[in-house]
Amino acid sequence: MDEHLDKQSTEQVEALRRELCEYGRRAAALGLVIGTSGNLSAREGDLVVVTPSGVALDRLSPEDCPVIDLRGRVVAGTRKPSSETPMHLALYEATGARAVVHTHSVFATVVATTMTELPPIHYNTLLLGGAVRVAPYATYGTPELARNVIAAIEGRQAALMANHGAVTIGGGLEQAFEATRLLEWLCEVYVRALGVGRPTVLTEDQLTAVVERALRG
Ligand code: 13P
Ligand code: ZN
Repeated sequence: MDEHLDKQSTEQVEALRRELCEYGRRAAALGLVIGTSGNLSAREGDLVVVTPSGVALDRLSPEDCPVIDLRGRVVAGTRKPSSETPMHLALYEATGARAVVHTHSVFATVVATTMTELPPIHYNTLLLGGAVRVAPYATYGTPELARNVIAAIEGRQAALMANHGAVTIGGGLEQAFEATRLLEWLCEVYVRALGVGRPTVLTEDQLTAVVERALRG
């Protein structure tokens, strides 16, 4: 670990490295990622802990996870940071997120391959900020893909990535991970509903009523 880091930062970063391994295993166990697809990161101050490139997320150990600064320079660790690091860093720069989860989960990828947005067919879509936009396709790991995702995620906790997968943000790994699970559930409901008939999309008035009902407690 970088000698300039104080003891507290070192402990926080080490805790995040362990958390990345835990959520990597959970993502794999739930089938949200297979093999080396997908990546996770979490931010602590001016540092970001990210999963390494090309390592299966269910086989990570804490020291495998590089620690980088907000410009992507490696501060600790010997492995190469995820190829999607530009997207993770862009999300930290553009939003108040403290964690980012990217997967190639099946139903999210089906929607991202066939549509331009996931419409609000269930009121829980509001937990992600509303209809989830699909960012236009760009090659993985490129600044162009990062830019497309930043535009698509505005005002949301999630975005889909055309012909690729999903990305969610949160105040911590648990929140970002739960957003990923919710997004996958919503995409599965939508795709299955399309197989049965024509899904009804909630209207603005119906969504407003949900927000009002939730505010009443
Ligand atoms: P990394 O193994 O480099 O994180 O890449 C996986 C991925 O999902 C690229 O989009
Ligand atoms: Zn990917």
